[in-house]
Amino acid sequence: MRAHSAKLRAAGRRIGCVPTMGALHQGHLSLMEYARQNCDHLAMSIFVNPMQFNNPDDLTGYPRTFESDVAKCAQLGVDVLYAPGPDQVYPEGFLTKVSVAKMTQGLCGAHRPGHFDGVTTVVLKLFNTVLPHFAVFGEKDYQQLQVIKRMAIDLDLAVQVIGRPTVREPDGLALSSRNHHLDPAQRREALCLYRALNLAREKIGQGASLDQALAAAKDEIAATPQAELEYLEVVDAASLQPLRSLDGPARLCLAVWIGRTRLIDNMPLGDA
Ligand code: AMP
Repeated sequence: MRAHSAKLRAAGRRIGCVPTMGALHQGHLSLMEYARQNCDHLAMSIFVNPMQFNNPDDLTGYPRTFESDVAKCAQLGVDVLYAPGPDQVYPEGFLTKVSVAKMTQGLCGAHRPGHFDGVTTVVLKLFNTVLPHFAVFGEKDYQQLQVIKRMAIDLDLAVQVIGRPTVREPDGLALSSRNHHLDPAQRREALCLYRALNLAREKIGQGASLDQALAAAKDEIAATPQAELEYLEVVDAASLQPLRSLDGPARLCLAVWIGRTRLIDNMPLGDA
C-alpha cells in the first residue's frame, strides 16, 4: 500500500483517504463523495480495529458486509481499497500505543476505557501506510474527529484532517452501523437522541439556561422506555472540556443505550 501511494505522490497526485470499519452506509458514502471531489486518487480503508473495542461482544457482533462494501466502493469510483487483517496491522510483538491526553477522558472516553488510544494508534498507522494528503472523518463521531485533529497537530502530521456533517435518516436518526442491531420498536425509540438534541437547542434558542435545556433533553430520554442515558454533556467544540455556560462554539453530545445497542449523536450549540 505504501509503495503504491509513494509512487502516486512522486507523480504529483493528491491522495484522499476515508478510513472506515466497513458496513458502509450513506454516512460513509457522503465522506467518499467529498473526498472523490477533492483528490486525484481516492483511497478507502476498511478495518474493524480490535484495539478500539473495549467490549468483546461489540467486536464479534460488529456488522461485516465486505462483499457489498466492495461493490459500493466500485460504484463510487474508489481507486484503491486497503483492507488489512488484524495480524497485518498488529503483528506479533506489537507494543506501541498513541494516546491523546485530556480530550479523551470525558464523553465516550469515560465509558470506553482505551477506546481512543485504539483509534489514534490505528489512524496514525493508516496515515503512515496510505500516505494521504487529507483524510475525511464524520462529525457523527465528534470526539473522535477532534482527537484525531489534535493528534495531527501535536505530531506534526502532514495530513489534513477534514470533518464532514452527520448524515441522517429522513426522520433524523444518525446513520450508524450499529442501527442494524435495533429491532423495529427500538428503531422508533432510537429517535429519542435526535429529539433530545433538538429540544435542548430549541430551549437555548428560547433563552433557557444550559441547565434547563439539559434537563429537558434528559427528560426526553427518560420518557423513552428502553432508553438509558449514558451521558449528555455540553463541551467546548474544540477542546471538548465541559462547559457550564455558553460563551463560544460548543457541542452538545450524548450516548444512549437502546436495549443492548449503544448509540451516540451530537449537535452544535451556541456560535458553533
Ligand atoms: P465507522 O466505520 O463507523 O468507524 O465510521 C467511519 C467514518 O464514517 C467515521 O469518520 C465516522 O465518523 C463516519 N460516519 C459514521 N456515521 C456517519 C454518519 N451518519 N454521517 C457522517 N459520517 C459518518
